[in-house]
Amino acid sequence: MKKLVIANWKMNGQPAMAEALTRATAAQAAGFTQAGVVICPPAPLLMQVGQWLAGTPVKLGGQDCHTRGEGAYTGDISAELLKNVGCDYVIVGHSERRAAYSESDVLVQAKASRAILSGLTPVICIGETIKEREAGRTQTVVGQQVRDSIPDNAMTTGGQPANFVLAYEPVWAIGSGKTPTVDDIRQMHQYIVSVASERTGHAPEAIMVLYGGSVKAANARAIMATPAVSGVLVGGASLKAEEFCGIIAAV
Ligand code: PEP
Repeated sequence: MKKLVIANWKMNGQPAMAEALTRATAAQAAGFTQAGVVICPPAPLLMQVGQWLAGTPVKLGGQDCHTRGEGAYTGDISAELLKNVGCDYVIVGHSERRAAYSESDVLVQAKASRAILSGLTPVICIGETIKEREAGRTQTVVGQQVRDSIPDNAMTTGGQPANFVLAYEPVWAIGSGKTPTVDDIRQMHQYIVSVASERTGHAPEAIMVLYGGSVKAANARAIMATPAVSGVLVGGASLKAEEFCGIIAAV
C-alpha cells in the first residue's frame, strides 16, 4: 500500500504563507508515486487551497467534522460540507480536540462514522498521555481508543481496502520535539494493527496506521521505514516548506 503523508496546519495559514506552502508541496509531490500527500488547512482556506492544488496529486482534508450532516450547529462543519469543497480526508479525535473539548471515543466514533457515510476517509487519532505512559498503561489506553473510536461502518465487507486510517500520536510527542524510539513505534503500530484488524475484520495489511508527533525531515526516513508504519501525520513541520518537502522526499 502507498504510504501517506498528511499535513495538519492546525489554526495556521495566513494567505502568503498558505499559498507558498501549498505550491511548494504540490511541486514536491508532482510525479511522485511512492506516497499520497494530503494537506489539512483550516476550514476557511479549504476552497482556496483546493484551487491551488487543482491538477496536482495532493489531496485535501478537513481537521474535524460534526456527527450530523447538517442542521443548527453554529460554528461546526459537517463531513458533507467538507466533501463538497473537495476533501477526501478528515482528521477526527485529534488529541488537541480530545483535551480542549473533552471529545470522547464515543463522539470520535460518531464523527468517523459520518465521515465514512459522506465518502471521506477519517484519520482517527489515538495516543497516550505522558501520565498514562509512565503508569505503564500505554497499550491499555490506546487499545481501548482503537476499539471504541472505529465505527461499525468501518467493518470489512470482504476484501475491500479499509475505509479509515489510524494515526498513532503519543500526546507527549506532539509539538515537543520528543519522539518514541523506532522500536517503541514499531511495537505500538503492530499492536494497533492487530486490535483494529480484530475489531473490523480487515486483514492487517489493509489497515494503515500513521505515526504523528514531532516528525521532521531529519527523523522521517527512519520513522517511515519502521515496520507497520504506513506514513506520517505532521503538525509543526508541515508549516515549513523545506521541512515538509524533506519529509515527502524521505518516503
Ligand atoms: C499533530 O498535532 O498532529 C502533530 C503531529 O504535531 P507535531 O508534528 O507538531 O508534533
